[in-house]
Amino acid sequence: MITVKKADFIGAALSVSQFPQTGKTEFSFFGTSNAGKSSLINMLVNRKSLVKTGSRPGMTREVNFFMVNDSFCLADLPGYGYARRSAAETEAFDRLIAEYAENRAELRTIFFLIDMRREPGEREKNSVAWFEQQNIEVIIVGTKADKLSKNEISTTVQKWSSFFQRSPELIAVTSSTQKTGRDVLLKMIEERLK
Ligand code: GDP
Repeated sequence: MITVKKADFIGAALSVSQFPQTGKTEFSFFGTSNAGKSSLINMLVNRKSLVKTGSRPGMTREVNFFMVNDSFCLADLPGYGYARRSAAETEAFDRLIAEYAENRAELRTIFFLIDMRREPGEREKNSVAWFEQQNIEVIIVGTKADKLSKNEISTTVQKWSSFFQRSPELIAVTSSTQKTGRDVLLKMIEERLK
């Protein structure tokens, strides 16, 4: 399995023209603000605070790029669903995500994070469908699994499997506080780099 030896922040972008030219396969992370995105990326790369956690929700508007082992890239997409965002900000957010998904040739897979205590709705379903229409693979990642019992975890995976119409293997269960699910995600990344 991949050993993370190195992880560096390589840039932030507010538009296509600012996306760093890496030529490396990229995996990106998408979810509502507070879904646990920063914590998950930090867990993956074994760093306490490569990505700032618990920052004011909705404040991260740019895409942040991280290079791992000089061999693949992780992109931290801005969190959606921030209620206090103005209409103009929401539009700018949607545009940035669309620009990213439509133009980023390096993009291989989007990890779509959902807090396991939440019930995904039409917004999530439509976003997954839209990414897939762009020929981007989407893997659903349940976060904060430590907040659920074993039974609740398997019920949730089953529910999501039918809601998103995908096999349970394409739903990863993670907990950044307990450091679970890391191997599963790194394995998925490794397979996609072959
Ligand atoms: P982001 O806004 O999606 O980047 O989310 P953060 O990583 O900043 O996390 C949001 C909040 O959820 C913080 O208070 C974290 O401590 C908490 N959190 C993140 N991951 C986990 C987890 O796996 N388990 C639990 N219990 N809390 C978590």
